[in-house]
Amino acid sequence: MEQAPKIAIIGGGASGVFCAINIKETCPKADVTVFEAGFQPLHKLAMTGGGRCNITNTFEGVAALQQVYPRGYNLLKKLFHEFDHNSTAEWFARHGIQLYAQDDCRIFPTSNSAAKVCDTLLSTLNRLGVWMLTGRKATAISVENDGRFSIKFSDDNIEGNYDSVVIATGGWHKDALYESLEGLGIEMIAPVPSLFSLKVKSNILTNLMGASVENAVVQIPGQKFRAEGGLMVTHFGFSGPAVLKLSSYAARHLAENNHKCDLLVNWLGVTEDAARTSMSDIVDVNSRKSVASAHPRDITQRLWEYLLNRAEIDPTTKYSELGKKNLNKLISTLTADLYHVSGRGQFKDEFVTCGGVSLNSVNSKTLESKTVPHLYFTGEALDIDAITGGYNLQGCWTTGYVVAKAIC
Ligand SMILES: Cc1cc2nc3c(=O)[nH]c(=O)nc-3n(C[C@H](O)[C@H](O)[C@H](O)COP(=O)(O)OP(=O)(O)OC[C@H]3O[C@@H](n4cnc5c(N)ncnc54)[C@H](O)[C@@H]3O)c2cc1C
Repeated sequence: MEQAPKIAIIGGGASGVFCAINIKETCPKADVTVFEAGFQPLHKLAMTGGGRCNITNTFEGVAALQQVYPRGYNLLKKLFHEFDHNSTAEWFARHGIQLYAQDDCRIFPTSNSAAKVCDTLLSTLNRLGVWMLTGRKATAISVENDGRFSIKFSDDNIEGNYDSVVIATGGWHKDALYESLEGLGIEMIAPVPSLFSLKVKSNILTNLMGASVENAVVQIPGQKFRAEGGLMVTHFGFSGPAVLKLSSYAARHLAENNHKCDLLVNWLGVTEDAARTSMSDIVDVNSRKSVASAHPRDITQRLWEYLLNRAEIDPTTKYSELGKKNLNKLISTLTADLYHVSGRGQFKDEFVTCGGVSLNSVNSKTLESKTVPHLYFTGEALDIDAITGGYNLQGCWTTGYVVAKAIC
């Protein structure tokens, strides 16, 4: 009688659990074990979306995947033919989790509960007979003479005879498993952080804490990195969607520069010409008023007073007395306000890792290693990561599904 294939999944996070379920649903005879280092599988998934779990995105307005997946867009473009955001919605509905889309295109479960998503995934895993072993941190993988795998754990125990192994360990540190994979000839791209806020050196922003604009543009001068969206002033610097996006686009550049850079803030998010037109209108209509009393619609009074101060303009000056030089200074402050970033902030709401298993070292259809047959990779362990908005989890569902299908 043919023996059931024995499959080990290292990592009980979103992609590992999703992969395990899909293997068992397609191939019920498979003997599937998930080895999880911690004591709570899916512990990160439980925190996602501020506890609401931003499962995926409608992808409306995403003209090119590179906009949302700075790393991995080419591969995902192919893999989305197998399993995309629509497949995610169907899959979760089939498993009792209905989803809804917000106006901002982010998709959540109707329960708005990440805990319920975790419960459903774990009870499905249990019902299908997947073994979930917690407190098992894998430290090395080796290939035996018969081509099967042995896995060594941090307690020095070794489990063997696995026909296939899936690495679903999430974002990397250069730990023992990382080195073991390098030893097997897997090309690893050095991991660096992505999706973080930015610290600003001086305390100039302290009094502005909590201020925000909806449509700013932030960019690193002299580089191609530029992002638009909401901008928030925190007690140490800048955060909000635009900054998180910029940190994702420029993750590697920032890491190479110790997270120090210049940052240009365009508070209005429009071109200098458009800002000039809108300021000229304000000057015309409010010529008898003080500059403090009339400002562009998207700027709050507090932010406006800060920007006047930044442009060294006395707020009691009448618009009629502002003069060309001051107007130019004000427009430049509104559209190209320069700061010096001194490091990464502590905002960790949706932190992910850029880097990991090089996409050159995996088969682009199956995510199987090109050099070690039957060794597969899913989720953040791969050099795939996205901006915020549900795209990172979509990457986990897609890669988890593709690997399950390849194994089956
Ligand atoms: C606070 C927060 C909120 C987020 N919110 C969202 C969101 O709303 N939407 C979104 O799309 N993305 C979100 N993300 C990103 C998303 O959570 C990750 O992209 C996703 O969890 C990655 O899944 P994964 O399976 O690859 O890795 P993980 O979920 O990190 O799981 C990996 C698992 O492997 C285990 N492990 C690691 N090493 C070993 C080892 N050697 N042996 C055994 N086990 C090991 C870990 O303990 C972990 O449980 C958020 C991230 C954070 C931190």
